[in-house]
Amino acid sequence: MTATTSIATRAAEVRHRIEAACARSGRSADEVTLVAVSKTHPIEAVEEAVTAGLRVFGENRAQEFVPKALAARERGLAAEWHFIGHLQRNKVRDALPYIDVLHSLDSERLVREIATRAAEARPGHRPLRCFLEVNVAGEAQKEGIAPSDVGPLLAAARSAEILDVRGLMTVAPRVKDPEEVRPVFRALRELAAEHGLSELSMGMTDDFEVAIEEGATVVRVGRAIFGDRLP
Ligand SMILES: *Cc1c(COP(=O)(O)O)cnc(C)c1O
Repeated sequence: MTATTSIATRAAEVRHRIEAACARSGRSADEVTLVAVSKTHPIEAVEEAVTAGLRVFGENRAQEFVPKALAARERGLAAEWHFIGHLQRNKVRDALPYIDVLHSLDSERLVREIATRAAEARPGHRPLRCFLEVNVAGEAQKEGIAPSDVGPLLAAARSAEILDVRGLMTVAPRVKDPEEVRPVFRALRELAAEHGLSELSMGMTDDFEVAIEEGATVVRVGRAIFGDRLP
């Protein structure tokens, strides 16, 4: 599609592809939450997306996320915010009040930092839904814990009252053919099942259909909705 294609048109196309992938795998389309990843795009793009019927947005950097979530609030946009990038402990205090779902819980130190900040940052102890990020393929330079660390991190997260662990998340390796990452998605599903977790955050612009076929309950799609990332 060209750069002038509207967000509404692209979002409709993504929804259609989600429905088709669900139909192929005998699933219902409302089992899959679409997170529209708005990173690098301005608040105006989020507003356009809300007008197009999108409601759930994803951001990966606290410095960009906090002002954007604030701007959305000021504009009265009905947006739910998912934080999908590595959350540095020194950013927890600023970001925590605005995060509805955290996809990237990746250390016990982060659990402790969130627990420490919770009373101040989450008035009324509003629970924080979260996913543990797993580096399934064991890639160097990739965020996320090893599959063997899921048990200990899950135990730590469950002992923190503020955290409500929903499932596992992964970012698959970049490949040409999305079929190549099917085993990664399947491995995440099996790992989640071993730990009694039902939700799977997996699948991006290049591979969300395969992820849905393998059981994704949340897909995180940026470029297919907003176009290429801005510098
Ligand atoms: C940027 C990002 C996405 C979306 O990527 P696209 O390829 O633009 O769909 C999904 N998940 C994470 C963790 C990201 O950082």
